[in-house]
Amino acid sequence: MVLKLNPNHQLLWHSPSTLQIGTDARSVVLPQLSAEQERFIDALYFGVAPNQLAAVAKQAKLPAQQAKVLLEQLEPLLQKHANGKSDFDLAGLPPDPAQPQFAETIWASLKHSTGGQAVMTERHKRVVQIDQLDASGLLAMLALAGAGVGTLVTLDQSVVTAADTGPNGYPEGLIGHQRVTAAHLILQATWPASRLVSARDLKPSQIDTVDSVLFLAQQVIDPKRYGPWAARGIPHQTLVFDATGVELSPVLVPGKTACLNCQHLNKRQNQPHWGVVSSQLLTSSLRFDHTANKLIGVGLAVQVLLGWLDQIGGFGKATDTGFRYQLDTGELEQLAWQRHGDCSCALVSASAA
Ligand SMILES: [Zn+2]
Repeated sequence: MVLKLNPNHQLLWHSPSTLQIGTDARSVVLPQLSAEQERFIDALYFGVAPNQLAAVAKQAKLPAQQAKVLLEQLEPLLQKHANGKSDFDLAGLPPDPAQPQFAETIWASLKHSTGGQAVMTERHKRVVQIDQLDASGLLAMLALAGAGVGTLVTLDQSVVTAADTGPNGYPEGLIGHQRVTAAHLILQATWPASRLVSARDLKPSQIDTVDSVLFLAQQVIDPKRYGPWAARGIPHQTLVFDATGVELSPVLVPGKTACLNCQHLNKRQNQPHWGVVSSQLLTSSLRFDHTANKLIGVGLAVQVLLGWLDQIGGFGKATDTGFRYQLDTGELEQLAWQRHGDCSCALVSASAA
């Protein structure tokens, strides 16, 4: 394993002799930095094999003990192996200046303390289904593609209507086209590295292997929409827009995590009229995915979903909480996703264990 400083942790000089490395909570400040220490740090940006450390320190004219102390200080900034995967294809080499450092790669690298490209390579293997490609679904699809997800799938067979158009939706010229065809054209024009597939072209066994399904809904999600996927054991997530903001679940894994029905039962327990109110909201045709809500909601959902997809790829751990964003207060609340004793999903889980 090569010891290598993550090149996305920036070198920032406070003064000619005081160096800060990195800008997040892991950042390290080194006062009175010597030329020897600086040379050793330079070597760590290129990557050093552990059995070469003594030689590199000697070459930098840095005493071995000082090199050891410095290395311990810089440990949080080193790239790490993820779950034993060999993700150091470029270890020892500086970033290729011919390759643009996309924000996605930089963020993936900093988030998982690893080579960002290794994370992107795994994301390219992931398959996400978006159940409906209205304007919000289209935005989610493009955001996932932009973050490196290789294959998007949809069952949507509707056509583009005027309600789906706008700066964050479909161009007006695509009204009347099948949404999947229109979304495919947009993806091809903006990010051909990812592909959109109609679920009608897939076998049921292929659909069962998608890494997650994203359901978008207004106010309340109809259990008929997610029920079949939950019954088939397919991980899924909901993004629900309402009058006060947006609410999203973590990625729910049937048999392992609490389910959407658990959340419904918990809400019914805490809000006396939720049962009757939610059944009426379900029939409403009002939409609340206005621009601000849509961008915030899709952003949050994509961030949570990427955490799950990266976990499948061997990087980090996905969150097990959902989120609610209140538009009027700007408050972001974490939502615990807890089992409800009356929900049958606990029985499914117990029988699977
Ligand atoms: Zn449940």
